[in-house]
Amino acid sequence: MLDVLVVGGGNAALCAALVAREAGASVMLLEAAPREWRGGNSMHTRNLRCMHDAPQDVLTDAYPEEEFWQDLLKVTAGKTDEALARLVIRESATVRPWMRRHGVRFQPSLSGTLHLSRTNAFFMGGGKALVNAYYRSAEALGVEVRYGSPVQSLELEDGRFVAAHTAQGRIEARTCVLASGGFESNRDWLREAWGQNAQGEWTADNFVIRGTRFNQGTLLKDLIAQGADAIGDPTQAHMVAIDARAPLYDGGIVTRVDCVSLGMMVNRDARRFYDEGEDFWPKRYAIWGRLVAQQPGQVAHSIIDAKAVGRFMPPVFRGAQADTLPELARQLGLDEQSFMQTINDYNAACRVGTFDHAVLDDCHTEGLTPPKTHWARPIDTAPFYGYTLKPGVTFTYLGARVNAQARVHFGGQPSPNLFVAGEVMAGNVLGQGYTAGVGMTIGTVFGRIAGREAARAAA
Ligand SMILES: Cc1cc2nc3c(=O)[nH]c(=O)nc-3n(C[C@H](O)[C@H](O)[C@H](O)COP(=O)(O)OP(=O)(O)OC[C@H]3O[C@@H](n4cnc5c(N)ncnc54)[C@H](O)[C@@H]3O)c2cc1C
Repeated sequence: MLDVLVVGGGNAALCAALVAREAGASVMLLEAAPREWRGGNSMHTRNLRCMHDAPQDVLTDAYPEEEFWQDLLKVTAGKTDEALARLVIRESATVRPWMRRHGVRFQPSLSGTLHLSRTNAFFMGGGKALVNAYYRSAEALGVEVRYGSPVQSLELEDGRFVAAHTAQGRIEARTCVLASGGFESNRDWLREAWGQNAQGEWTADNFVIRGTRFNQGTLLKDLIAQGADAIGDPTQAHMVAIDARAPLYDGGIVTRVDCVSLGMMVNRDARRFYDEGEDFWPKRYAIWGRLVAQQPGQVAHSIIDAKAVGRFMPPVFRGAQADTLPELARQLGLDEQSFMQTINDYNAACRVGTFDHAVLDDCHTEGLTPPKTHWARPIDTAPFYGYTLKPGVTFTYLGARVNAQARVHFGGQPSPNLFVAGEVMAGNVLGQGYTAGVGMTIGTVFGRIAGREAARAAA
């Protein structure tokens, strides 16, 4: 009988498959996507967050455990399991040599990605190159990979894995690692989770999915229905405000618009609704999808002037451009009078000190609600630009509860042979919020733990 069945074909699944195979287990990996779309959301990624006590290869300075933990604590507002979070943080210090052995290459952080050179290791060629390297390594080691093989359900007996059911039949294995992502691509489930807002709008109908269409959450639903302990809230997710012209699936990082902290955000009524300069962009970009989701019509507009150009990664789609602010309002379909009122109030409230986008500078507003606490400068220099943004869902946090061995819990008891890794359990560490690069850290660390423990349990 097969030792380890890995379900999923992204980073967490591949890490589990590689480690289980290295430990001597026979391994089969089932990827729902066809070969050309393999790799799930992981193929869209660029980096992972790593702790380190001194400069290391592509990472500058130090990023000690305590600072990483405090960052996580802050963004999750305490909705995290400290023991599991610290496990992820500590293991993140040692994963890169192993990743290199399987063909992953790193590069220093890209210019334009502010503030990340210390904390995040970038993949040369991005996540696509990473998953390609892992697939090559898995095939060379003798992992059997089957594409276009979505698992429809799991056969379990009292929390013990027995078999996986696919359209091609039933596959038995001694142990199973489930790494099939969240449910972000399942629009019906998102609709049900978010429901209707006060205006009667189905909030999630205006969401765009940033990554793969294959993360339908079929097995997460099945697992919970069969008694696995769930963790997290179905509306909690990593959500970015992305270009409203992005495709429904797989727009990836190029649809991100990274100028929010350099300008002003307004909703459909031309009103500001949140502090654009609250913290560094990598620590805040993932709250804006949710903030926009809470606005009427689930839409917002990022407004900048010529002073911001060249200070952020240029978006792939050109924004609206105008020589005057009223003209920009017309192009964006905003009420001109309300927009000018908002701009004039904001400009008048700006107290400009020494502008520096690399630190939490002293440029702020006074007497304005909501305030802009850093990088506040009047929007007064033509040409003016506007980007219309929608909520883009990256991945959902509802998941299966696990222990430090990545074992799924059923009624508080760990399964003897069913393990999970990646998005399907990320909610144990991320109850809400996000800090850039931690998704791949969780998947890499728990993928490796799940692979090791599954191989051990099979033996
Ligand atoms: C545009 C974008 C950019 C991102 N950038 C970063 C970044 O730079 N750093 C970072 O840390 N995180 C980033 N993330 C988040 C990151 O992608 C995830 O945290 C991480 O990839 C999760 O890995 P995973 O293996 O759990 O899921 P995935 O990589 O999504 O893999 C899930 C896999 O399961 C398969 N699957 C689903 N259902 C089934 C089924 N029923 N049967 C069989 N297979 C199934 C899917 O086809 C897929 O291969 C980004 C995400 C997106 C969308």
